[in-house]
Amino acid sequence: MTNNEKLAQLLFPHISKTPQDYEAIYPPRDLPQGARVTRFAPSPTGFLHIGGLFTALSDVLTARASGGVAYLRIEDTDKKREIDDGVSAIIEGFRAFGITFAEGVTGFGTESGAYGPYTQSHRAEVYQTIAKDLVLRGLAYPCFCSEDDLTALREQQERDGALIKGYFGKYAKCRDLSYEEQERRVQAGESWVLRLRSDGQEDKRIVFEDVIRGKIEMPENITDTVLLKADGIPTYHFAHAVDDHFMRTTHVHRGDEWIASVPLHIALFKACGFRVPKYVHVSPVMKEDNGGKRKLSKRKDPEAAVSYFVESGYPADGVIEYLMTLLNSNFEDWRKANPTADHWTFPFNVKKMSVSGCLFDLAKLSDVCKNTISVMTAEQVLESVLTWSEIYDKELFELLSADKEFALGIFSIDRGTAKPRKDLAKWNEVRDFVTYYYDALYQPVFEADERFSAAEIKTVLTEYLKVYDPADDKDQWFARIKALCEPLGYTPNVKEYKKQPDAFKGHVGDISGMIRRAVTSRANTPDLWAIMQLLGEETVRERITNVINSL
Ligand code: GLU
Repeated sequence: MTNNEKLAQLLFPHISKTPQDYEAIYPPRDLPQGARVTRFAPSPTGFLHIGGLFTALSDVLTARASGGVAYLRIEDTDKKREIDDGVSAIIEGFRAFGITFAEGVTGFGTESGAYGPYTQSHRAEVYQTIAKDLVLRGLAYPCFCSEDDLTALREQQERDGALIKGYFGKYAKCRDLSYEEQERRVQAGESWVLRLRSDGQEDKRIVFEDVIRGKIEMPENITDTVLLKADGIPTYHFAHAVDDHFMRTTHVHRGDEWIASVPLHIALFKACGFRVPKYVHVSPVMKEDNGGKRKLSKRKDPEAAVSYFVESGYPADGVIEYLMTLLNSNFEDWRKANPTADHWTFPFNVKKMSVSGCLFDLAKLSDVCKNTISVMTAEQVLESVLTWSEIYDKELFELLSADKEFALGIFSIDRGTAKPRKDLAKWNEVRDFVTYYYDALYQPVFEADERFSAAEIKTVLTEYLKVYDPADDKDQWFARIKALCEPLGYTPNVKEYKKQPDAFKGHVGDISGMIRRAVTSRANTPDLWAIMQLLGEETVRERITNVINSL
């Protein structure tokens, strides 16, 4: 037996498989030419970030547009940073926005697909098999350095003024230990990590092609990076190479903070004998701040968390639609040409993603969501509001579900027309939107249009009550208001009023405005006739009478 063979056996006595076994277990995928295999690979260390949703969307769209597969892998190798409900935050986040992966982790403890397990903590044997093979081929070695040793090494590098810091070359104390020493120390129970034996050279550079950014040139990796930690769990870098190879990823979409690690990753793929995948480094989602641009921050910006959009009740389709405008600037043109097409059929192009990072603008998101809600049916709106309010606004949920016909009536007003109203951007605005329909919510505040005196309003409302007839259809209702105009000194013709404003007290819109304010306490509402129909005669009379009495 060679020393390498002895060392591989010493370090990994329990590993009997070989890389070839895994090549057979995870064969190349049977997909059409050009099909891309992408993955979203979050760590369950915090909430799902809007930038994560953005990247995941690029994964799913790429796979769909190319007839490939997008899968979800949970990277839980950093147990210290893991949070309790990290995995459910990810799963729930995607579920809420209708993002589905064809393969991978599907729920807490559940998964689907032939390339699993898709949770890294369940893949120890795969990593260790490749690690054993690297040892066998002299490309990895155990390192026994303690924290103190590593601190001493850093201090030495400071003193030497070393340009590159890290475990490499002459600083790599454990790189050339004899087999006898390695054996003695392992058998004595000393803790060890496994390091790559880098063959990189300081003066050499690597070049790779990032799909978004084009050619990138960087110094080669020279450090003997840790592959397996003392507990046998891989580092992100090693797990990335092993998993993306055996899960047959073609395109690695990930945050651009990983660009700096590409030289190491290329070295790892090469050492393992794997083909390097294509890299798609996604720029962070930005926010405008004081005229400048900065990354959306977990700490400062509530909208950095995907859960913020769920809790506020943004319609899922609206959020996705907006993110798509950020992903590819030609999405909006596509949308104009295909107003009703399913957004998943958009011909997404990774190459058109922003290099500098796109601006996430809550005001634009609201506009998109208003559009989304405006073209929903009343039934869809009610269903979405009920789903949302059941969790986030119980009182509203109870009110709406107590009489669904009535609630449908509210959401039906001015809906389904060529120019639907755009009152709502998110479900937490519904409470305010429906207040005047429910006595439990309604707090009347009559704010007079200041062009009219209290006495004048009183007269108009009193005259109106005399002619108000709930049996009127919309035309009759309006005709009656028009008929009030002349006797009261108003004109039924708005144009005429604009021509000669001094000749009249006001126009027909001013009278209906007074009625609107009296019935709803609002200056603007959807179709007033429809609102009054829904409220019913008793409520309408009572509200107008109360205002008259208060003036
Ligand atoms: N687990 C890594 C992270 O959450 C993912 C990087 C990758 O997608 O490769 O940052």
